[in-house]
Amino acid sequence: MSDQKFSTNALHAGHDVTVNGGTRAVPIYQSTSYVFNNTDHAANLFSLAELGFIYTRLNNPTNQILQDRLAAIEGGIGAVVFASGTAAISTSLMTLLKAGDHIVASSSLYGGTYNLLNVTLPRLGITTTFVDASNPSNFAAAVQDNTRAFFVESLGNPKLDVLDLKRISKEAKEAQVPFIVDNTVATPGLLNPIEHGANLVIHSLTKYIGGQGNSLGGAIIDAGTFDWANGKFPEFTEPSAGYHGLVYHEALGAPAFTFKLILEGLRDFGGALSPFNAFQILQGLETLPVRIKQHSINALDLAEWLENREEVAWVNYPGLKSSKYNDLAKEYLPKGQSGIVTFGVKGGFEAAKKLTDATKIFSLLANIGDTKSLIIHPASTTHQQLNEEQQQSAGVSQDLIRLSVGLEDIEDLKADLEQAFAAI
Ligand SMILES: *Cc1c(COP(=O)(O)O)cnc(C)c1O
Repeated sequence: MSDQKFSTNALHAGHDVTVNGGTRAVPIYQSTSYVFNNTDHAANLFSLAELGFIYTRLNNPTNQILQDRLAAIEGGIGAVVFASGTAAISTSLMTLLKAGDHIVASSSLYGGTYNLLNVTLPRLGITTTFVDASNPSNFAAAVQDNTRAFFVESLGNPKLDVLDLKRISKEAKEAQVPFIVDNTVATPGLLNPIEHGANLVIHSLTKYIGGQGNSLGGAIIDAGTFDWANGKFPEFTEPSAGYHGLVYHEALGAPAFTFKLILEGLRDFGGALSPFNAFQILQGLETLPVRIKQHSINALDLAEWLENREEVAWVNYPGLKSSKYNDLAKEYLPKGQSGIVTFGVKGGFEAAKKLTDATKIFSLLANIGDTKSLIIHPASTTHQQLNEEQQQSAGVSQDLIRLSVGLEDIEDLKADLEQAFAAI
């Protein structure tokens, strides 16, 4: 399956109709648990002598299809799905790291991720140095003896900075740590971080992959390229107290981390995806290839239109010639630059709030990647808890408005913004 192209994999990968009762649509296996043939069979499943389903907190046949499909479209050897993008990130980091470990991360991150790294993980002894990712050598400069991961977003939310993934992945390789890339905004339809050296790829499936604003979900895709036996990760090369003495790297090889995430991460932290949500997300994934193209076309059109409005102070979209990320966008996002556009309103904080209140088609809410157009003023909402310096490094100014450009007719979207401009 995975030799096939993206659009084909988005529709077919992972779903074998011959074992799923001939159902053309992916069935929802709405079951918490699975009947064992006998106690020996059960014992074999628990000891991994045989692979199979035990309990839906660990895995489920519907979720497994989504996992296989995501691995196919990102070019990984395996994937694990979670109840949300945040569960994917926190469970992955908690499975990989321990107290005393250190992360080097881009300062331009989704607000929730920034908070996890900046406030919550330090409480558990895992610290992060945030760097300006526009200069890849900043990553090497921040590496310490205890550094165990690099974490970035391929296309930062909401700064829309396109990262030079190849150069940062070289720095990660040099430091012998896994390079983790959150690819939520770009999506596998526009960019495959594994091709540029990422070891692990994160998605909030809630956004473009589900795509219709109805289900939370998250995933991590394992490229299978990281050497867990390099001496920095003894949890992979020594008997694990967490799973009756299993030596992950020896027993499982390349997908060692994928298994550890299921056997310990999901077992202990419990952020399992509901099979019903997996089904909804699979429905969305089927049309991601056509949707993300149109989101990108609409966003570029609207960004160019905004650049010519006198009410607008500045526009940021990596597909614009005026964007400082345009050269990197040409290299990493030649097929389109996704559907997020940010711009500043003349008149600052108050004018930005007024505009946001006046739109009728654009819905005021905290999400991105829906088929419907969305609008938010981050300084008063998603990023209000950050101080001004933190807001600045996350790329959030007082006048900034973030649009998630949907699939409505572009003329209607322009007319909606036009009447909202008139209201301020
Ligand atoms: C939304 C988002 C997340 C968090 O995902 P949830 O599904 O909302 O938990 C993580 N990273 C990025 C880039 C996001 O946009």
